[in-house]
Amino acid sequence: MKNFIYYQPTEIRFGRGRINEIGEAVARFGKRCLLVTVPEFAAMAPLFKKVINLLESSGIQVAHFDQVIPNPTTEVVRAGAKIAKNFQADVVLGLGGGSSMDTAKAIAVEATHEGTCWDYLFFRNTQPTGKTLPIIAVTTTSGTGSHVTQVAVVTNPAEKYKSALYNSILYPRVSIVDPDLMRTMPPHITASTGFDVFAHAFESYINPKGSPYTDLMAIEAMQIVAKYLPTVVKDGEDMEARTWMAWADTLAGLCIANAGVTLPHGIGMAMGGLYPHVAHGEGLACVYPAIMRYTYKSAVERFATVGRIFDRKLKKVEDKEAAKKTCNVVDTFLKDIGLWTKLEDLKIPKKELKALAKASLVLPDYKSHPKITNLDEVHELLLKSCRRQSKDNT
Ligand code: NAD
Repeated sequence: MKNFIYYQPTEIRFGRGRINEIGEAVARFGKRCLLVTVPEFAAMAPLFKKVINLLESSGIQVAHFDQVIPNPTTEVVRAGAKIAKNFQADVVLGLGGGSSMDTAKAIAVEATHEGTCWDYLFFRNTQPTGKTLPIIAVTTTSGTGSHVTQVAVVTNPAEKYKSALYNSILYPRVSIVDPDLMRTMPPHITASTGFDVFAHAFESYINPKGSPYTDLMAIEAMQIVAKYLPTVVKDGEDMEARTWMAWADTLAGLCIANAGVTLPHGIGMAMGGLYPHVAHGEGLACVYPAIMRYTYKSAVERFATVGRIFDRKLKKVEDKEAAKKTCNVVDTFLKDIGLWTKLEDLKIPKKELKALAKASLVLPDYKSHPKITNLDEVHELLLKSCRRQSKDNT
């Protein structure tokens, strides 16, 4: 068995009703809290109000920064950090999907360090220090796993480039995973964020940096997604399914924090930078069919295992054939959850695909993919992702 390190410092408070513990969780880190969310809208307004009430009744003063946008930008972080500094926040609470939690993490850095969060990206010599404000995460999607990762994904609109801060100081001190908060997600957001859970588990499972520990969690996460995501897309009120998806999200987040992601996420990140209107999970869903077919021969046993999670009949089929069929299995799954989309549907023009391919190879994710790729091959994968075939095109 291979040697490995597994690290996870976040206190995870999991279960329905746990949001009621937010005052106590935040109070451990200070009396002045910056709450970071998207602008209020009907589905989330009662939750924002409830959290503010819970914090205030625990003796915590709250400043509410409510300007988060999907695929959050350096400008948004700058505005939030300014408020955190003026308010002299002791602690930052990200409440929402990955965009809100990541913005909270980046604010926690920018409010306490010279320059901007962009100066502290993962590859730079200057890294965030212990001065970073303590981060509390409350997730409302299932999801990005950001509530248990050391990552904050941010886009620099001037550079049209999406990158990440990546440092252990960014692990939330406490994360609350309360499935009741996910009940308001509409089917399309449930599907795209849920597919991201699958992508995290899958990419850590085929990743050479994975370990027996992350494999265990990745397989469990994929089993849960296969069983419960189609159910919860159809019936968002099914709290049993919502709860399992929240758990799968957490497991898959723990996987990526320790094993990382591969080529699809490299492309997904580039897409988010160049086309901020594209939802993260939706972009991934577009490129998965082509990438599965491109990759399965380089990770036969692992692909076969994944295929058998979704289709029990593949247990009787030998690995090579099962691995090939796994590509079709994932197609069927995407159709079931309403994500059988192509790049054209996302308004990504064909003529810009070379630039997208180039941007996809900036982050090192592709280096952990089981099949080593190059610019022409990524371009070809993107061209393939412009069209869809309903029959087996393996
Ligand atoms: P999101 O946070 O962008 O939210 C998507 C939409 O869903 C928003 O409009 C939001 O307001 C809405 N929403 C969220 N919760 C809701 C609820 N309960 N009810 C109704 N609407 C709700 O989506 P996301 O997929 O969670 O996050 C995507 C971001 O996270 C991307 O920037 C991605 O790159 C990043 N990400 C981060 C990590 C990490 O480890 N930090 C990992 C993967 C992805």
